Amino acid sequence: MEAVDCVVVGAGVVGIAVARALALAGREVIVLEAAEGIGTGTSSRNSEVIHAGIYYPKDSLMARFCVQGRRMLYALCAERGVAFNNCGKLIVATSVEENDRLAGIKVRAEANGVEGMRLLDATEARALEPNLECTAALLSPTTGVVDSHGYMVALQGDAENAGAVFVFHSPVTGGRVVAGGVEIKVGGAEPMALRCNLLINSAGLQAPAVARRIQGMPSQLVPQEYYAKGNYFTLTGRSPFSRLIYPVPVPGGLGVHLTIDLGGQARFGPDVEWIDGLDYTVDPRRADSFYDAVRRYWPGLKDGALQPGYAGIRPKIVPKGAPGQDFVMQDRRVHGVEGLVNLFGIESPGLTAAIALAEHVGAAVAGS
Ligand SMILES: Cc1cc2nc3c(=O)[nH]c(=O)nc-3n(C[C@H](O)[C@H](O)[C@H](O)COP(=O)(O)OP(=O)(O)OC[C@H]3O[C@@H](n4cnc5c(N)ncnc54)[C@H](O)[C@@H]3O)c2cc1C
Repeated sequence: MEAVDCVVVGAGVVGIAVARALALAGREVIVLEAAEGIGTGTSSRNSEVIHAGIYYPKDSLMARFCVQGRRMLYALCAERGVAFNNCGKLIVATSVEENDRLAGIKVRAEANGVEGMRLLDATEARALEPNLECTAALLSPTTGVVDSHGYMVALQGDAENAGAVFVFHSPVTGGRVVAGGVEIKVGGAEPMALRCNLLINSAGLQAPAVARRIQGMPSQLVPQEYYAKGNYFTLTGRSPFSRLIYPVPVPGGLGVHLTIDLGGQARFGPDVEWIDGLDYTVDPRRADSFYDAVRRYWPGLKDGALQPGYAGIRPKIVPKGAPGQDFVMQDRRVHGVEGLVNLFGIESPGLTAAIALAEHVGAAVAGS
């Protein structure tokens, strides 16, 4: 049987970043990806926002890795020529009750170490964004957008330069824990078995399913997966705003917000639609609720201006209605299995947080 030091399952932004961290630490790494290339899952079905780290509970992994990861991501973009736009974001209140919530959001952001947050009254906000309708706003100057594919290519390049190997069309179909590591089964055109000292399960939406298929991984510790789809609609015509515009958050997501891609195209979303299977189609009828949500802060939105865009699926590990769940990293201290790390529930801000999360995984497995 072939043997390798480390196997990373999944070449989304998190798996690539983990492979990079391990390879840069001098370890032998193979990344096994079921699809035909990098980043075809959630990593290419998101808002591409570099989040500041505003909303997450203090000291949560999301808060820590978002703030650190954001700084690392801007540095990577600058060093490696990855396209980005540090355009800033406005969180907008559209009623007096929501005004009070902005102050609370600012306090939380500052507790997380987010720099430069500033409360604006309606006049100040409109001086920045003349098309905006609001009663008050909170400016986040460190928020931005990134070319997510360019970002992943840069991480992959670093990983490969440090010796990591990426193998596509290679789904991990099962495995078992053995003395000093894990034996895994790899499907695809040429199925094979592979033994590794360290297995990082970074399979995104499939991470719970992959963990369940590893004999010796305590199944009661594998969370149930739930899928919360986020649909996007694109705006025909020019973007009415130059910053990202977010309403005050709603349960399950950040509300129907406006983001602007690096080509200047404005898109609205994602909404929250709980689903049972992996289905990425966007139902055009969902546009109705978008018009209502968007017109609260942009009354100028014209009928017929929204076109179905794309959808992504949040890899939830708690059901609808449950309180939000932090990122979950399970290593031997949690499940008792030497040489296995599971990453569960890596939803937003996973794109922003990936480099910091990967460094944390690298530190946790150093010496194993
Ligand atoms: C609607 C939406 C909007 C978001 N917006 C933002 C945002 O603006 N900013 C932000 O920071 N974050 C955002 N996120 C979160 C971010 O996109 C994710 O946290 C991040 O992309 C997760 O990356 P990943 O590598 O864990 O998963 P994925 O990108 O899903 O990668 C997992 C990989 O594993 C592979 N795989 C699965 N099973 C197997 C197997 N058995 N064997 C081999 N390979 C396998 C898959 O093919 C896939 O390539 C958003 C998420 C969603 C859903």
